[in-house]
Amino acid sequence: MTTEARPVVTRFAPSPTGFLHIGGARTALFNWLFARHHGGRFLLRIEDTDKARSTQEAIDAILDGMRWLKLDWDGHEYYQSQFWARHAEVARKLLDRGHAYRCYMTQEELTAQREKAQAERRPFRIESPWREVTDERSETPFVIRLKAPRDGETVIEDRVQGRVAVQNVELDDFVLLRSDGTPTYMLAVVVDDHDMGVTHVIRGDDHLNNAFRQLAIIRAMGWPEPIYAHVPLIHGPDGAKLSKRHGALGVDAYRDELGLLPEAVSNYLLRLGWGHGDDEIISREQAIEWFDLANVGKSPSRFDFKKLENLNGHYIREAEDGRLAELVAPKLGLDNGQRELLLRAMPELKARAHDLNQLAEASKFLFASRPLQFDEAASVLLTPESRVLLSHAYKALAGVEWNHDALEQSVREVADAQDLKLGKLAQPLRAALTGRTTSPGIFNVLALLGKSESLARIEDQMLEPNE
Ligand code: GLU
Repeated sequence: MTTEARPVVTRFAPSPTGFLHIGGARTALFNWLFARHHGGRFLLRIEDTDKARSTQEAIDAILDGMRWLKLDWDGHEYYQSQFWARHAEVARKLLDRGHAYRCYMTQEELTAQREKAQAERRPFRIESPWREVTDERSETPFVIRLKAPRDGETVIEDRVQGRVAVQNVELDDFVLLRSDGTPTYMLAVVVDDHDMGVTHVIRGDDHLNNAFRQLAIIRAMGWPEPIYAHVPLIHGPDGAKLSKRHGALGVDAYRDELGLLPEAVSNYLLRLGWGHGDDEIISREQAIEWFDLANVGKSPSRFDFKKLENLNGHYIREAEDGRLAELVAPKLGLDNGQRELLLRAMPELKARAHDLNQLAEASKFLFASRPLQFDEAASVLLTPESRVLLSHAYKALAGVEWNHDALEQSVREVADAQDLKLGKLAQPLRAALTGRTTSPGIFNVLALLGKSESLARIEDQMLEPNE
């Protein structure tokens, strides 16, 4: 375990303007793991400063998604909007110390500057005539701008990106406090991170440019600088930045629509951008032990739904039968008796499913009412010849004791008597019993359905030899 100089404090700082994005979930996971690895604290701060776009629904979705992924945060969640007074206080401190100034430029003046820069084909960087003015004009509305450094360069030793630098002339005098007294994101983030004692800022690399501006505020305040780690964003399978077009963006969709287990999503997200040798299946305990920033990749990783599905299949096979039955039962609207049957069938069912929807689909035959509906492949199997075979099976099965071994023996005898391979009988039998061509092993299907239901389903489809 590497040692960090200060007790580690990380945070996840989502803006509640939508669901918990899959990229956000990965950021939360990395922060959580880093904190847990170092025995530090992981904090959650809801950045609800944009009141117009923040909703309670989105906050609930974020908390819900984090709980589902078992990313517990230490202490209560913080709400950025509660700290507005504190943000304004810091802006005033910067003003008092000469690191910020009141800017009285009007919108027209700003627009004129921007247009002039455009006409001269040079990048627009605000030049406020108020930068060096200290006297106050009480009546005129103003914003507070940071007096950003103009000389030299700002360097960040980013734990993921390596050494990154900007020339300070490229930084503008950005706004800290708007004319209505509300803080900007740039100021609020810095103040909150400082006040919450955040030591490591681990987030998407879309924030890398902000980091230089945020450092300027931190340095002006003389605060300790956090360690930055800007993680490349997730891309879709086609290599473009993950977007709505790629489908399934919210963590809730992974649970509700795709029927995935949280440990699979979490394991997948961990591997998406971080690696530990060739290990693919990594438990939470191992992840806590192994996670570091050094092995976060520098280039964006591509989302691979197939891989996620396979991983989910693994975790389904690992999951307890009772838990899976609880998750699947509501999808089928089962009563208690049916739940019990589902539970008994689960060891067989879960061996074949990649997600909970497939699991639900594969268990439907247990609860189907007669006469059964057949999928196309199954109905093709029910030829007149195979229906005759079913009647032989019916006669044999009607007389056997209903347990797996006896059932197996009986079905094998029928096949032998007809000089057929077992499969030739098992296929139509499966079709008659389940309506499908894939199912748990045929003897298990018979055992699970029970004698009277099995015989009735076979009878529904069989033809007497002389019919
Ligand atoms: N609220 C910002 C976002 O959701 C994150 C800010 C940060 O991590 O510094 O993109």
